[in-house]
Amino acid sequence: MARPRGSIEVVCQNPQCDFYLTEKGKDIIKRGRDAKTRRQRYYCIHCGKFFMETKGTPLFNKKLPESEIINICKHFVEKNGIRSVERLTGHHRDTIGSLLSDIAEQAEQMNSFLIHNVKLSPIECDEFWSFVKKKKRILSDHARNQILLAMRGSLPA
Ligand SMILES: [Zn+2]
Repeated sequence: MARPRGSIEVVCQNPQCDFYLTEKGKDIIKRGRDAKTRRQRYYCIHCGKFFMETKGTPLFNKKLPESEIINICKHFVEKNGIRSVERLTGHHRDTIGSLLSDIAEQAEQMNSFLIHNVKLSPIECDEFWSFVKKKKRILSDHARNQILLAMRGSLPA
């Protein structure tokens, strides 16, 4: 394929797709705009579904590759503090701290990433969010709300 697509920072939003919320190997193109909002639409070549850019996972725009985000999330589930995750992964604690803030701000969407990509069980997700809440003493109202939604989403009804 001649056309480079690396610049598209959007991941597939279809949970049935093998490339759901996955950065590596994804094949996403821009295709048209939403009729009402005029916002950019994206198309996943793997599953043939359309979705909007706002439903991407902005975590992947950060300097950490997806594999490292998965790695760090796993350490958080094991209740490693930021300093021990720094030691275990070699990433600076500021990088890990800002990842944690981003995770909190997008908790609801992050929850499906935790389930599908990090492969956490509902109980592990719950532990993960308790950990985030404890580590981030100062959370925005938005983040607090997001975490509530995420915790509700990961528990069986
Ligand atoms: Zn797809």
